Amino acid sequence: MHDGSGDTLRAVAELAARLPEQIGPLAALAHNYWWSWSRGGAELFASVDQERWEVARHNPVRLLRDVSAAALEAAASDSEIVRRTNELADALRKELEAPDADVPSVAFFCMEYAIHRSLPIFAGGLGVLAGDLMKEASDRRVPFVGVGLLYRQGYVHQRFDTAGSQHEYWTIDSPTDLPLAVVTGEDGSELAISVDVGGRPVTLRVWRCNVGRTRLFLLDADHPANASVDRFITSRLYVTDRDVRLAQYALLGIGGVRALDAMGIRTDVLHLNEGHATFAAAEVVRRLIGAGRTPEEAIAESRNRTVFTTHTPVPAGNEQFDVRDVEATVSELNAGLGPVADDLIGLGVHEHDRFGLTESALRMSRFHNGVSQLHGVVANEMWQRLRETEPDFKIDAITNGVHAPTWMHPAMRNLLDRHLGPEWTDTQADESLWARVEDIPDEELWDVRNTMRVALVDFARERATYDRLARGESISYAQRVAEAFDPARLTIGFARRAATYKRIHLLTMQPDRALELLRGPKAIQALLAGKAHPADEEAKSVLRTIFEMKRAIEVSDRVAYLEDYDLQIAAMLVSGCDVWLNVPRPPLEASGTSGMKAALNGGLNLSVLDGWWAEAYDGSNGWAIQTPEGVDPSEQDHHDANALFDILEREVVPMFYDRDESGVPRGWVGKIKASLRTNGPRFNASRMLNDYVTSAYR
Ligand SMILES: *Cc1c(COP(=O)(O)O)cnc(C)c1O
Repeated sequence: MHDGSGDTLRAVAELAARLPEQIGPLAALAHNYWWSWSRGGAELFASVDQERWEVARHNPVRLLRDVSAAALEAAASDSEIVRRTNELADALRKELEAPDADVPSVAFFCMEYAIHRSLPIFAGGLGVLAGDLMKEASDRRVPFVGVGLLYRQGYVHQRFDTAGSQHEYWTIDSPTDLPLAVVTGEDGSELAISVDVGGRPVTLRVWRCNVGRTRLFLLDADHPANASVDRFITSRLYVTDRDVRLAQYALLGIGGVRALDAMGIRTDVLHLNEGHATFAAAEVVRRLIGAGRTPEEAIAESRNRTVFTTHTPVPAGNEQFDVRDVEATVSELNAGLGPVADDLIGLGVHEHDRFGLTESALRMSRFHNGVSQLHGVVANEMWQRLRETEPDFKIDAITNGVHAPTWMHPAMRNLLDRHLGPEWTDTQADESLWARVEDIPDEELWDVRNTMRVALVDFARERATYDRLARGESISYAQRVAEAFDPARLTIGFARRAATYKRIHLLTMQPDRALELLRGPKAIQALLAGKAHPADEEAKSVLRTIFEMKRAIEVSDRVAYLEDYDLQIAAMLVSGCDVWLNVPRPPLEASGTSGMKAALNGGLNLSVLDGWWAEAYDGSNGWAIQTPEGVDPSEQDHHDANALFDILEREVVPMFYDRDESGVPRGWVGKIKASLRTNGPRFNASRMLNDYVTSAYR
């Protein structure tokens, strides 16, 4: 099999050649993101050279390449570093050598993956879900390969000007600076996959990225054989240009299936994560017809091994294209399908010759699911017209979960190690495990929460100072933030893609109450973050309003909008915030996962009853905003903003500051325990993966 394993070994050997022998195994660790969720992995790389580690943005390949020979020698003579290196490298080797679990093997197709901040090929929740699922598959030894695109310019970066207008920029990452290896074929030359796009052949390179036991293959059109315009196709994630997007979907689906085939990788299941990947199923059909099946057999066989997850009820998330554009873009696929092409493309078509990605993927798969129980119901209503041709049509629900070792702050993980036992992640879907949280002494849990808040405040001060200086604010304004925020103050977080349905504008609807909450001695501070898509003018204008309000009410030392929301900011916020806010317009939030990350860290959710929270909230484990149904959007907004401030003023703030003589807020800590006990076993990726294995993959 030429699946790039030899290429990874070569890349490891090349990197190891730079290193003193005693710490040579760091090279193998650097080429497998497993280090990023293993205890002490990040600390080990940081201990080689803390400053270079930050400069390298926690990319260990860059660190080991850039670090001075003197620092490497120092590390090699540090017995603790050598011991930890060997220990972790041994653990990784054992992990890689262990046999697969006896479950179906899966090829997973997705446009974005959030594996680590050093590999910026994701935009938001969809990518986080994909990354978390891969890591969990590795931990549970499920045979799993991911297929995606390598965007050399990644997703958009965000910067604000002093007026609060968002500006966008892209940075270019060289794949050779990343823990990636280009896959070569039998003859030792680079594997080249060819896909026709709009009648022109586009050549793709395949990069291999190791995510624990699982492999992620990333297709890259920036190849010298391609015309300049085609080299750009895989430059950026979620480009605004519709033709380029369609070309990306064609490359992902068709190119992905061809790449797996060229590498000799065969799996039992094809999992389309979002409709973007729907052409993968069509390509499977084409190949089966090429192998002699009748079109009917080919479609049935492909369908029988395909599962599909839909992630959003928002119309913009269920993209449609003119059917003629689709036919022109995938003309080669069409030709290979012969007479069945009309049927297959037709599967995605409804009114006015519009081809819907979701519709197509629903029809090409035997199992389909939404990502929370409520979303399952909503998706069934949304796609009920499919029942006209398929009476048994039904969309199941598998609620999302998050990868606990990735999202849990080390202080929290250590606390659970002490009280639930170091192997607790192996049984994290058991309620009886989490019931033992009740026995953790309040003081100890509260201490950990304080530690995480202090870390967040330090981080926010540094980031906000830098953000302000970079946007051209005065030094005095920037300096104010360096002393701003109080490590003991109730800290509220709101961070997510700045899409209109997420309704961050609710926070600005009652400025007097917001001001009162931010001002008083026993009140709140707030940290916000999130990027608007470059083409989303409405979302950008809301961000401007937030900036204007921040200035107008002079709360610059109590509120910060952290620029360029990414995995690092997310990890800091979900671990350090006491309360995690979420106010989407129901039922548009399919699941939401940031609140799950907060819950695992002992943060409390205050959220609209939408997505995951609709099934998680039990009256004791956080707070809920009951949104009135059947009213117009502006009335809904007014109601929900009002309810939000009511809950903050009457319940959240008093409870947080209600301390006993030892300074512990007993009621608050009790609520944290209720949240951990009830949410812990349900909203982790272990439970989610298990659901996929038992109801979708088998
Ligand atoms: C978890 C996460 C998301 C998804 O959060 P939602 O609550 O679903 O909006 C988006 N972006 C980043 C960086 C994340 O870590």
